[in-house]
Amino acid sequence: MATVTVRDVVKKYGELKVIHGINLSIAEGSFVVLLGPSGCGKSTLLRMIAGLEPISEGDVLIGDRVVNDVHPKDRNIAMVFQNYALYAHMTVRENMSFALDLRKAPKDEIERKIAWAASILNLEPYLDRYPKQLSGGQRQRVAMGRAIVRNPEVFLFDEPLSNLDAKLRVQMRTEIKELHQRLKTTTIYVTHDQIEAMTMADKIVIMRNGYIEQAGSPLEVYDNPDNLFVAEFIGSPS
Ligand code: ADP
Ligand code: MG
Repeated sequence: MATVTVRDVVKKYGELKVIHGINLSIAEGSFVVLLGPSGCGKSTLLRMIAGLEPISEGDVLIGDRVVNDVHPKDRNIAMVFQNYALYAHMTVRENMSFALDLRKAPKDEIERKIAWAASILNLEPYLDRYPKQLSGGQRQRVAMGRAIVRNPEVFLFDEPLSNLDAKLRVQMRTEIKELHQRLKTTTIYVTHDQIEAMTMADKIVIMRNGYIEQAGSPLEVYDNPDNLFVAEFIGSPS
């Protein structure tokens, strides 16, 4: 577990500024949701935290360490994407062990980690199947399994449920929250879905056009929206 701090972070694509000096501090072990309409900069901010996108100005810190120049694999972060990004030609077991194999972890440790992840995520019956033999929810669980076997200090999710049908989305919300309650890993979760944000977050960060409009608990932003945009976006009663 670790805190994540974003300090005066700016992102420019050429002349176009898409993140305008954002400040954010994320408590150790908390579940923070970045919420905002499509194109507001959620994924860009998440990718800068992950180290997958260079920062134009400012700093990202994990714990006390400025990680601007730290390679993604050395940030102790795991990211789960909307499209799962599983390897089609590998079994569930191989998908989950891949990162550990690369790190040359001992075989028995790899087996132990995979057994642990499979039991938490109810993947035990599927370890020898290939991704195409799994449902959408099962694939998303494999993506989470692949992330947790690395014992990351921080989890990043970018719209992980967008490709699932409505019923499964609701079920997976609960599963992701249960996973968080169990592991207490600091989590940053991106979505454009207000209900998902309200039901999952300890703290919601509402973004628009590369700025943070408001940050607070779901109740705070619902009951006391700072401006009309937040009120309308969250759907507060007026
Ligand atoms: P969100 O995830 O909230 O939908 P993004 O972070 O994907 O938003 O995008 C924020 C803004 O940055 C958008 O205007 C988008 O068009 C722009 N953008 C994202 N990636 C690039 C890129 N690689 N080059 C140029 N503009 C980009
Ligand atoms: Mg996005």
